[in-house]
Amino acid sequence: MTSERLSTVVLLAAIAALFLAACGDSGAGASGLPGLEPTMTSLPPSTPTDIPAPDPITLPAVDWENVDQFRAAMRPAFADDVDGFVNRNRYYIEASLEFENDVAIIRGAERVRYTNRSADTLDEIVFRLYANMASLGGRMLIYRAEINGQPVEPGLTARDTVLILPLETPLEPGGSVEITLEFSVAAERGMHASYGAFGFQKEVFSGPEWYPMLSVYEEGDGWWVGVPSTQGDAGYSETGLYEIYLTTPEDFIVVMSGSEIDSFASGEGVITHHYVSGPMRDSLLVASPVFGVLTEYVDDIAVNVYYWPGDEPGAEEALRIAVDSVRIYDESFGRYPYAEFDVVETFNFSGIEYPGMTVIADANWEPGNQFFEITIAHETAHQWWYSVVGSNQVDQPWLDESLTCYSEYVYGRGVRGEKRTKDWIDGDRDTYNYYKGTGAPDLKLNLPVSSYVDHNYGVIIYVKGPLFYMELENLLGRETMLAAMQLYFERHRYELVESHDILDAFEDASDQELDTLFYEWVGEFPGLDLSSVEQ
Ligand SMILES: [Zn+2]
Repeated sequence: MTSERLSTVVLLAAIAALFLAACGDSGAGASGLPGLEPTMTSLPPSTPTDIPAPDPITLPAVDWENVDQFRAAMRPAFADDVDGFVNRNRYYIEASLEFENDVAIIRGAERVRYTNRSADTLDEIVFRLYANMASLGGRMLIYRAEINGQPVEPGLTARDTVLILPLETPLEPGGSVEITLEFSVAAERGMHASYGAFGFQKEVFSGPEWYPMLSVYEEGDGWWVGVPSTQGDAGYSETGLYEIYLTTPEDFIVVMSGSEIDSFASGEGVITHHYVSGPMRDSLLVASPVFGVLTEYVDDIAVNVYYWPGDEPGAEEALRIAVDSVRIYDESFGRYPYAEFDVVETFNFSGIEYPGMTVIADANWEPGNQFFEITIAHETAHQWWYSVVGSNQVDQPWLDESLTCYSEYVYGRGVRGEKRTKDWIDGDRDTYNYYKGTGAPDLKLNLPVSSYVDHNYGVIIYVKGPLFYMELENLLGRETMLAAMQLYFERHRYELVESHDILDAFEDASDQELDTLFYEWVGEFPGLDLSSVEQ
């Protein structure tokens, strides 16, 4: 970014809008800053007609001990990582994607093995049906639920986004259960909600969290059943292994988290895609008959860009940005473990991250558009902070978003050079100072998405957040900064973190007490040593 952009208040607001919009944030606020126009208007959630119960799907027995097939989704040096996931969340899904009367319908069944890794005895298993969130705008129905082969009567709460399965026999620590669910999920053509991620438009079906997904059991708090805010990311989940057979019309190109290891004709006019993942915390599905694809390798990572007809110039630039981002982050933060990374053009708002994939809005898909570059660099950094190192994006959005925004500076230094990146950081500083100057609340970083109203979320999490990391960088130096991020990444690969995990990694890597600095910017959190905070 250039310093000219700082010349007027209006341009400052425009800079803020660039950052606010990343990851689907609306960026539109009523107070403080000049009005930032949303680029997509929220529509009331549309509810397609209930899909009649499909014919029962008979799933084969799954050999949960065998994880060999998942190695194909990993870089060779990380293939053994799958061995540690025999007793983690496991998904085996068979589904079909069909189009009927302008409604995209997935009908499927899944066998899921859940292992109780907590010290508590569980009397229920909780899944999330995120597609039913108003901000996603799909419709998911459950037709059959079984636990260890026995039918159970599920309960639904939280606007049908929480599915509760009672356990007749409580699940002891270390024990496993196998859950079978039959489901459908539908999206009407042209339907889009504020987040705009789940839907079917322009011959592209985009299905985040398109299957019933295990929630997270938190010791002491129970199963997580929070309702995500419309301005942040939805998913909160633990890492597991996915094996998926998805049948689509034969001309469809399917892009999912992980790697397609096989495909075969499975009926008249249809083809079945066989996907496996490495240890991942979600599986995104995007499918279209119109995608073009470009591929380039970073070492042994295949970076693919899927684009719409006529958008190849943007795709070439997207590929360059994604390749630069993967290379820089892989060297700076720690090795990306998966064999593949996909950037996919869809109709969503801005850009949204998923394991091994990111979707980028067609509205920004143009060469030379700085927001296009920043969004791809940002979403790619989420592969490190969100995908591999996971966190609760709803209750503690700073954990992944602020570090991801700081990572943009690391990308900037690697691609744009020191001077232009310094201008960029100075621009963020001016935005933050301007925001405070309007009298808007200078909130701490460690708050749930729902605690930030209007544009506070964007400025605090996306602008103040990376500036906090700049404070750390100025205190510790760049070398120690990257060493701390590498330590944090290595310690928490495939796991979920809390705020104190970042503090611990930075203190251990720097051998300094950082409680006071964290308290000033981040706020209080369990694990922060308040007694050592200098008031
Ligand atoms: Zn983000």
